[in-house]
Amino acid sequence: MNIAIIGAGIVGASCAFYLTKRGAKVTVLERNPGPAMGSTAKSAAGIRHQFSHPENIKMSLYSAEIFSHFKELTGEDASYRKVGYLFLLSNAMLEDWQTQQKLQRSLGVQVEALDLADTLSRFPYLDGHGLAGSSFGPDDGILDPHGITLGFLNAAKRRGAKVKLDTEVTGLKPLPSGWQLKSETETLEFDAVLNASGAFGSQLGKRAGLDIPVLPYRRNIYTTEPVKNFPHPSPLIIDMTTGVYLRSEGERLIFGLSNLDEPAGDNQAVDWNWLEHTLELALPRFPFLETVGLDRKACWAGLYEITPDHLPILGKMPGADHFYNACGFSGHGVQHSAATGLILSEEILDGHSHTFDISDFRYERFANQDLKHEANIV
Ligand SMILES: Cc1cc2nc3c(=O)[nH]c(=O)nc-3n(C[C@H](O)[C@H](O)[C@H](O)COP(=O)(O)OP(=O)(O)OC[C@H]3O[C@@H](n4cnc5c(N)ncnc54)[C@H](O)[C@@H]3O)c2cc1C
Repeated sequence: MNIAIIGAGIVGASCAFYLTKRGAKVTVLERNPGPAMGSTAKSAAGIRHQFSHPENIKMSLYSAEIFSHFKELTGEDASYRKVGYLFLLSNAMLEDWQTQQKLQRSLGVQVEALDLADTLSRFPYLDGHGLAGSSFGPDDGILDPHGITLGFLNAAKRRGAKVKLDTEVTGLKPLPSGWQLKSETETLEFDAVLNASGAFGSQLGKRAGLDIPVLPYRRNIYTTEPVKNFPHPSPLIIDMTTGVYLRSEGERLIFGLSNLDEPAGDNQAVDWNWLEHTLELALPRFPFLETVGLDRKACWAGLYEITPDHLPILGKMPGADHFYNACGFSGHGVQHSAATGLILSEEILDGHSHTFDISDFRYERFANQDLKHEANIV
């Protein structure tokens, strides 16, 4: 089977890896001059098991296992460092989080419920006002998204995958048993096409005459100067009372807050106006930031790829034979990339995904008005 994958981010690369492992012929088409130059390059690189949707938890477990053995599998290092994720919780949130922790543990996840005193004794640099406790995932941590993308892609190339860079897919036309794709310079035919275009899922869908509800939303990450007198590495800490998150990046700290009022758009310039509001909410919780300088040149912004329920769109596109989606991860596509590659390889080559139950991630949910929503989106 001859498959086109549109997008050489971490998701397209993983799909190429799993499809070629099963013997499929794959061509990856990427409009940028290199792989991993879209959202993959802009992520906070986190991986966590603390999700509310069971299939998201299972995808993290599977992907974490793959990233733990990534070098044996691909020759590249995923740099999976288990620094942990710490969710800071108010009293009103505790009951819901206890239910979530029960689900996470039942699936084999290690997760610790800390009361406020425990939280502050382990992380004494935090201010505890308005908090009742926290949820700590010791196996959560950070990865190297570039390394993973290149590892997947290079392994796929060794199995014969072609990667066409500087190639934007501008037109997609269904054929009786496949798709015709057009770029500025050529017209190609494939048995199947896989949409791994990240935040541009909707744009690509329009080019194929399809309505795919994945829109780009800007997210900013602010970076401090090196902070010597701090107990690095901190976990990835998310203050659920405000939405501000922070973690160590080497000797620096990076932090951010989603601007939920900003409309969709592909502007990726850092929003300096948003910094003031972010700091207003961050300083009371992370008071040490008061004395730390910002490295403006090291700050960045990128695009989340958001769906209406913050769950990805995976699998066959109804009404468009031989067209498949792997997009709309709503800010957690790096960590779920390995599981996604497996899912799409089964969906395309076996006719359906059988390792994971992707019924809540299928496109049909929008027409059926059956949206499950992931609660823990940062
Ligand atoms: C600030 C920020 C923080 C984040 N933090 C995390 C995190 O901690 N953990 C986590 O798991 N995720 C995180 N994410 C989300 C994560 O980055 C994405 O979910 C993930 O990178 C999606 O990968 P992708 O391969 O689908 O998309 P991308 O990396 O964007 O790749 C899609 C590719 O498709 C290409 N493309 C699009 N249209 C076309 C076309 N018509 N023709 C050819 N090529 C095309 C693009 O050029 C792009 O290279 C974060 C994102 C941001 C912005």
